[in-house]
Amino acid sequence: MDQVTVIVDCAVATVDPHATEYARGHVVVRGNRIDAVGAGDPPEFGGARRIDGRGCLLTPGLVNTHQHLYQWITRGLAADHTLFEWLTELYPVWAGIDEDGVRVAATGALAALARTGCTTTTDHHYVFPRDAGDPLAAEITAAERVGLRFHPCRGSMDLGASAGGLPPDHLVERLDDILAASAEAVARWHDPSFDAMLRIALAPCSPFSVTPDLLRESAALARATGVRLHTHLAETVDEQDYCASAFGCTPAQYMQRLGWFGPDVWYAHAVHLDDDAIDAMAKTGTGVAHCPTSNARLGAGVARTADLVRAGVPVGLGVDGAASNEAGSMIEEPRHALLWARNRGGPHAMTVRTALELATMGGARVLGRAAEIGSIEVGKLADLALWRLDTAAHAGIADPVTALVLGSAPPLAALLVNGREVVRDGEVRTVDTDVVATEVARAQAALLAKAG
Ligand SMILES: [Zn+2]
Repeated sequence: MDQVTVIVDCAVATVDPHATEYARGHVVVRGNRIDAVGAGDPPEFGGARRIDGRGCLLTPGLVNTHQHLYQWITRGLAADHTLFEWLTELYPVWAGIDEDGVRVAATGALAALARTGCTTTTDHHYVFPRDAGDPLAAEITAAERVGLRFHPCRGSMDLGASAGGLPPDHLVERLDDILAASAEAVARWHDPSFDAMLRIALAPCSPFSVTPDLLRESAALARATGVRLHTHLAETVDEQDYCASAFGCTPAQYMQRLGWFGPDVWYAHAVHLDDDAIDAMAKTGTGVAHCPTSNARLGAGVARTADLVRAGVPVGLGVDGAASNEAGSMIEEPRHALLWARNRGGPHAMTVRTALELATMGGARVLGRAAEIGSIEVGKLADLALWRLDTAAHAGIADPVTALVLGSAPPLAALLVNGREVVRDGEVRTVDTDVVATEVARAQAALLAKAG
């Protein structure tokens, strides 16, 4: 018999297609699925686990569509640099990463995501130094331990500095090795099932760190094996200049030529897009992971999020790696997305409910999981965030969704992932975060010492 959990007496924002909300409602979870959602009290369930939601808002768990978990142990460096300066300073540090460092960093970053309402996260890992062990396996182990639904991307770089790329030569891999490792990762880990806790995507790092051959071959491999494609795109003006001089076109045109537009592709950032690129993304169903905090930290620019949403492009939100977003806090992203959008496009550019939608259903769409996660609907997976809004920081804010999106980050009363309680009363239950903090500090010191 599946365990039944009832969450009662809370406001509910379902983010379903009708944007249904209940001022006082309930959700019933059976096993790992949502069994019922509605107004008022649920029917009586003998033996059900009961979570008291008084003073709380229940939303779908947040979906993080872009992240580099390993960067949790390289936070605070190059704090005042542009993207290219920041990368050039950090590559030598990242060169020392190994599977133990990745495991520790990923555990820290994933715990921070859990505490800030994230139930599904992706990762983009593209640093595979020789003799580093198996970083992908290490972060998958960390995600299983913390308990988040996980979409790691097997990243890659094959264009070193001597060939005109940005990363140093010793940090890049050979094309054949990358393709073999990518195929192996898909065969070993990818789970296409409805309930999947683990799905793989392929993700060459960026136009300025990989060859066109790698982009073409990765797309062919992804399509042959039924996995998604991800990379960075149009993050900065520097990247635009790089593509103009190397390829004679914009980053979006370059990727389009290589077959990288389609409903199975999502791009991180997509800040510097012209109207044609937005139009092409909308027509092909190509998705965007908007990372407002990281974009601002690196001064990369303000994405045209409102235009993307209006055009019908699938848009989700991402924290990006913690080396360009030290907070690594998922609940800050909808707030920043709204603030940036309004600063760019005026007071009506984005509503608070659209911001919440981007952080939930938008992310689900971008990851190809709109049927399974992203909203509170009967039959979907039980990924739920119960936000406490009755403390001094939020008490008296008239509308709970406004309190969540525009107020300071509230504590979680509970976070359920696949029906399992990962956070309770603001604390991560699956790992000891004090122990994790000590390990993170030690791993960071060791990594910096290695870099000299
Ligand atoms: Zn990134």
